[in-house]
Amino acid sequence: ESIVGKIAAGEVVERPASVVKELIENSIDAGASSISVYIKKSGIAEIKVIDDGEGIGREDVLLAFQRHATSKIKDEKDLVRISSLGFRGEALYSIAQVSKIKITTQHRAENIGTEAYFVAGKLKWQKPAITEGTTIEVSDLFFNTPVRRKFLRSPYTEKANIIEVVQNYCLAFPEISFSLFIDEEEILNLPESETNYERICQIFGLETAETLKIKAISEGDYKVEIFWGEGLKGRYKVFVNRRYVREQSIVNSIYKAFQLQQPQFIIFITLPPQDVDFNVHPAKTMVRFANPQKIHNLIFKVAEQKHISTSS
Ligand code: ADP
Ligand code: MG
Repeated sequence: ESIVGKIAAGEVVERPASVVKELIENSIDAGASSISVYIKKSGIAEIKVIDDGEGIGREDVLLAFQRHATSKIKDEKDLVRISSLGFRGEALYSIAQVSKIKITTQHRAENIGTEAYFVAGKLKWQKPAITEGTTIEVSDLFFNTPVRRKFLRSPYTEKANIIEVVQNYCLAFPEISFSLFIDEEEILNLPESETNYERICQIFGLETAETLKIKAISEGDYKVEIFWGEGLKGRYKVFVNRRYVREQSIVNSIYKAFQLQQPQFIIFITLPPQDVDFNVHPAKTMVRFANPQKIHNLIFKVAEQKHISTSS
């Protein structure tokens, strides 16, 4: 049981940044409009995520920590057109297996909430609490899997990974306000914004953002928006239906279509949920398209569009 648990955890929880990713996804799925992340010692000592989402009902709190417990799939059809970020019901269970977790949550429709504490997946105590939304505090990550802890990178690298993960959700969900503190230092503090461009300004600074070129196209239910230029030199990010993905074929198309010599772009692709499958790997950064050629063609078409002015 606990070995099975640790193996499952190994797939979902590779490093502190994967915990941050899963907790943020749950907050987004809960409809949060504000998400705050607090990190101590590159995530090993503590990862705390606070949201103002719908919360978890008193009856469901313990269930959420069980394997394959998800409230997000009601029937088989949901599997096909899933639009929430999580749907495997593995994250909380897996994180709990390799850490100590305190959850404080209250469902919007209830007038009392719950606080509960788990060590290595085992419930230690539980009591009523009054709160809003959900706060999850993961501490002592990998305390019971010393080998995994040993294989972590330097604190510097782990921190960089966490910042990258948070940044990716900031970009994918501009309407949500995000903050990130690492060892009490404010890394990000972004109010909600209305457009991708505004969010890019918040993250990279107006000076950088103003140097970027923007193009967009939409064809039926398919939409592509791309930002590129020197200011993003050395980085590229691909978002498909608001998920950050690694998809080399898209990257290659962009290089060709935009005649780029080096990575310097952020692209947002939107398409009907039934035309894309994220369920390729538990980490969900891989993607399969029903019609890859259509995406490829759109990237070439968007490259031929006129630039959008940012001064509006
Ligand atoms: P999944 O996201 O795949 O459903 P998780 O293990 O990540 O599985 O979470 C299990 C369940 O716990 C979710 O389906 C959801 O009902 C509940 N949950 C987890 N985090 C939150 C949160 N921040 N706010 C509200 N509900 C949450
Ligand atoms: Mg989840």
